[in-house]
Amino acid sequence: MAHIDAGKTTTTERILFYTGLTHKLGEVHDGTAIMDWMVQEQERGITITSAATTCFWKDTKINIIDTPGHVDFTVEVERSLRVLDGAIAIFCAVGGVEPQTETVWHQAEKYHVPRMAFVNKMDRTGADFLTVVKQMKDRLGANPVVMQLPIGAEDQFTGVVDLVRGKAYTYDMATMGVTVEEIPIPDEMADQVEEYRLALIEAAAEQDESLLERYLNEETLSEEEIITSLRKATLENLIQPVFCGAAFRNKGIQQLLDAVVDYLPSPLDVPPAEGTLKKGRNEEAVTVEADPDGPLVAFCFKVMTDPFVGQLNYVRVYGGTLNSGQQVLNVNNGKKERVGRILRMHANKREDVDACVAGNIVALVGMKQTVTGDSLGEARHPVQLTTIEFPIPVIAIAIEPKTKDDEQKMDAALQRLRAEDPTFNVNTDEESGQLLISGMGELHLDIICDRLRREFKVNANIGKPQVAYREAITQPVSQKTRHSRQSGGKGQFAEVAVSFEPMPIVPGEETFAFESKVKGGAIPKQYIEPVRKGIERGMGAGVLAGYPVVGLKATLTDGLAHEVDSSELAFEIAGSLCLREALTKGAPILLEPIMDLEVVTPEEYLGAVTADLNARGGQISGSDSRGMVQVVRGDVPLRAMFGYATDLRSRTQGRATFTMQFKTYAPCPQKLMREIVDRFGGSRFLK
Ligand code: GDP
Repeated sequence: MAHIDAGKTTTTERILFYTGLTHKLGEVHDGTAIMDWMVQEQERGITITSAATTCFWKDTKINIIDTPGHVDFTVEVERSLRVLDGAIAIFCAVGGVEPQTETVWHQAEKYHVPRMAFVNKMDRTGADFLTVVKQMKDRLGANPVVMQLPIGAEDQFTGVVDLVRGKAYTYDMATMGVTVEEIPIPDEMADQVEEYRLALIEAAAEQDESLLERYLNEETLSEEEIITSLRKATLENLIQPVFCGAAFRNKGIQQLLDAVVDYLPSPLDVPPAEGTLKKGRNEEAVTVEADPDGPLVAFCFKVMTDPFVGQLNYVRVYGGTLNSGQQVLNVNNGKKERVGRILRMHANKREDVDACVAGNIVALVGMKQTVTGDSLGEARHPVQLTTIEFPIPVIAIAIEPKTKDDEQKMDAALQRLRAEDPTFNVNTDEESGQLLISGMGELHLDIICDRLRREFKVNANIGKPQVAYREAITQPVSQKTRHSRQSGGKGQFAEVAVSFEPMPIVPGEETFAFESKVKGGAIPKQYIEPVRKGIERGMGAGVLAGYPVVGLKATLTDGLAHEVDSSELAFEIAGSLCLREALTKGAPILLEPIMDLEVVTPEEYLGAVTADLNARGGQISGSDSRGMVQVVRGDVPLRAMFGYATDLRSRTQGRATFTMQFKTYAPCPQKLMREIVDRFGGSRFLK
């Protein structure tokens, strides 16, 4: 994880290069063989765009998870952090701690993800390793332990001193840094090495009473003791080991990989996953051990379309073993799915595997009904892991293809994007017939439009972002409606009586409920579902301003059917008409999305941030300190938040960041409601 441009992609590429090399070619130190390998890699395109890539280093399997392509995309970061066990935070040796570094660092803190740091770009002018370490303390509230010292800096950066082993290394550029040579520690560094090696040993000793005692008695601690102790402290989030290098110059990567093996957790080192065992109506909180022989518990964290194999569902297996060809239960929707191929994604190939045991990450081919956030398991022990919470789309823009050709391309493109991204929606505005795409925020929609243009080559006119309002009734209404039409031949007849009442809106739950209390067959059974369907369809557009209706409970109480003229269609229409009439009588109002906002800001901007939020009509619910920063939380109406990203940046010199997601709907202020409703012509229904 990193601020944009810190070198995440370059570092990942180099990791895949070195691991691929040792794994495939063994100890080949022949420059031409290495170059061949690189060329092949490039021709086939290194799959670092894959959501998870598997590589091997020193008999350890490492899964690298891609953090978001876009800096401001916090939900993507959250979902990566949800399935990974440890993180490397990459810093630029010149830029140091940058705003996005602060955000991802604090998010990792929230999920208790153990971290180490890699100070990259040591070769750049102005590179300053120790200043970055100091910034980690001051600005992130981190507890960095210096594990290496750079030999030289800027264009004189040649290697590193490993403080645990007390050895210095340099890299042979003829072999793209594959050959690492041990060299004597430069004389002029002796004092500095001694100072930092002592600090490191003290950090290790602090974690362990018996080590501390031996250290105080001036006994020497072994390499292994130091590593074990620092590993424990890293896993407990007490320290963050810091390394350095220059990925672009092929320096420092092998040591970084060694450190992943030495200091970051294996799936057995992290606390078991928490979930809910769902047996019939009973729900029980359970934990899931990473045991290959236990019942299957897997979690889908990303869906991506792959140009070669179609849809890929990336899953992490938390418990048990997933086999190809196996039938699994999607615990979230109760549907059975057959697992087709199981793929392990490497840098340059996809490997078919027969099975995947707990602790692993793989991609599945052939899943039809599984989306991001779903848990897969077995019917005998269905466990649902906490899903990734996706906000309801609250912002919409109209989008109009420029030509017939664009229209076709756009349909296909939107479908693909929709499959990849559960927080994005496409629908048609009932009134204007315009196509609306909706998402979580301005930036989100910006990115989608950008991808449409660049990746899918769609030319479209794009409207201004607008708030996705909703409509709801505020009073219960009992409504009886007859739909009857006689036009020659067979007529249409249906009569329904429905009580409608307002229902609270809970994020993640249905906003419409239907129940039938029809007695004595007043309406034949087969006509009941069509009534429900008719009401639900009618809810697509309310009477005030054409916005969808939410928070409604409908109870079908009575009705009448005709032997010849009644049909499913007639009852569907009756349901829809009945709803419309009820909406006009139920004192309808407009609802607006209220967002849950969290701003992370350095202390000195706290006043400016809260004053601004108050001015936007926000309700601040609290603020506290997290590490070196203040976290302000509150509820704000979405309509007051357009352009907030830019505003906040200028108010805080780019130092504050925020996350915002849908919390609930609240009644629109009267004046605004009148304005919107007047424009649409629905004012006569307002109370
Ligand atoms: P990301 O946005 O974090 O993925 O960063 P990239 O890996 O795309 O790197 C951003 C820019 O920094 C690219 O132009 C890289 O070539 C450059 N870069 C990456 N690592 C180094 C390094 O070690 N030294 C120097 N001088 N440049 C680097």
